[in-house]
Amino acid sequence: MNDVLLEKIRIAREKGKKIGLVQGSWDLFHLGHLSYLQKAKELCDFLVVGMDSDEKIKYRKGNKRPIIPLEERYAMIEKLGIADVIAVKGLNEAHWELIKTIKPDVLIAIKENYSDENIKKLETICGKVAILPRQATTSTSDIIRKTLILNGIQAFPKKDPRVLDAVEKFKQRIGCYDSLDDYIKRVISFMQNSTDWVTPVAACCYLNGKWHFGANLIDQSCPEADIVNRSELFYATIEHAELNLLKQLRGVEKLESPVWTTLFPCDRCMKVLIDKGVKQIFYLEDHPDRNWSKNSHKLAMEHGVNVVQIGTKNKELEETENKEEFPKFKYIDPRNVRSQKQLDIMLEREANNEDPFDPLIIDQDILFTTDYWYVSQNRFPYEEIEYQILIISKYPIYTIDEMSSEMWQDLRNIMNALRKEYEIPGGALCYRFGDTLYSGASLKRLHAHLIVPKKDKKTKFTVGGNPVMKKEFNLSSTQDNKE
Ligand SMILES: [Zn+2]
Repeated sequence: MNDVLLEKIRIAREKGKKIGLVQGSWDLFHLGHLSYLQKAKELCDFLVVGMDSDEKIKYRKGNKRPIIPLEERYAMIEKLGIADVIAVKGLNEAHWELIKTIKPDVLIAIKENYSDENIKKLETICGKVAILPRQATTSTSDIIRKTLILNGIQAFPKKDPRVLDAVEKFKQRIGCYDSLDDYIKRVISFMQNSTDWVTPVAACCYLNGKWHFGANLIDQSCPEADIVNRSELFYATIEHAELNLLKQLRGVEKLESPVWTTLFPCDRCMKVLIDKGVKQIFYLEDHPDRNWSKNSHKLAMEHGVNVVQIGTKNKELEETENKEEFPKFKYIDPRNVRSQKQLDIMLEREANNEDPFDPLIIDQDILFTTDYWYVSQNRFPYEEIEYQILIISKYPIYTIDEMSSEMWQDLRNIMNALRKEYEIPGGALCYRFGDTLYSGASLKRLHAHLIVPKKDKKTKFTVGGNPVMKKEFNLSSTQDNKE
């Protein structure tokens, strides 16, 4: 504390004034601060306000504080005119140095700041210690915490349905999700916190009894098309999961825990992990052929990092999956198609990103439509059939969960109307749903078949999917067969 201030205090004391001292950082000054100062002033004739320097606040409250720099905090208290003297406290000051220097007649403090024991000690230095209740329900730290959380929520407003969808697809790709161990399940579940729906990646490690996570985050201000075709922007717009994980570990010098990650680290992340001392990386999926990860395996080897791929697909699943040919179809499942001609039509629609069952696309007569469905003759009926009528969802609905009770009711009404219109004596309403490997449907949009066989004849309606496509069918025949 400088001599000029000390002299001011000495003079005040000589004049018989009661010297008070109140201290704080006075960052983001709020109403509670003002009341606190006013009450302090009421308890004395000459108020010294202690103010922490920026360095001291950083030391005590972390790098992001103070929000308001010393000059401004100082000017604000000065202009209030409540303080007679403002004393700035440096980082290297001894414990209670200002208190011991001034020896105030009254030290004004908040209960939380001192233990009972310390208050007793302080009473031996000061004439009196006046404990005031906190003057407002919010403290600056509370305000900042709430602001940060709010900003965080705005940055990640909700779990993006595109991310959830991508995570589901990832699980399907991994195939053996249920047999994975807890470690990797944790990291997979954390993928949902990613904001990168193109490649939601998560990384985690276990350290000092606690899980730490990072997920791929993207710069949301980037145009969506650029994010999807991201090659040039790969590093500019995506904050990789591994880097986010390391951010959670600030202060940890050497990361000796293994790291689990859903996708093998890219070259740059691998470098960072090596620098951080990581010796073992568990991963679920690999992309060694991609430009961004061409060197990462080599780097790991050179630095003695043990990389372990876990949860490789079980063989049965791999065989039924037919090498990724099928998941890419959005509207159809070629494995369940019954004729090449039917398949050709479907493939052509799919290639144009059109749902063959879209009522605007479908190239067969629509008998009538209702609120939720449209009704059409089946062009590819089963054998021994009198009628086979399709009742197809008007809207792009693919799971039975999406069907409202009104939609069910509507289906019933259609069924009754058709029964009367065609004077149907008997038959079946066949309605498959869900995973086409179970339902056996070749088109994914929800639809039902009203099937009426010829009298005294049998017909077959298949339930259950084909694991592989029929050998004689050709996925690429649309190109060759354009007659
Ligand atoms: Zn990376």
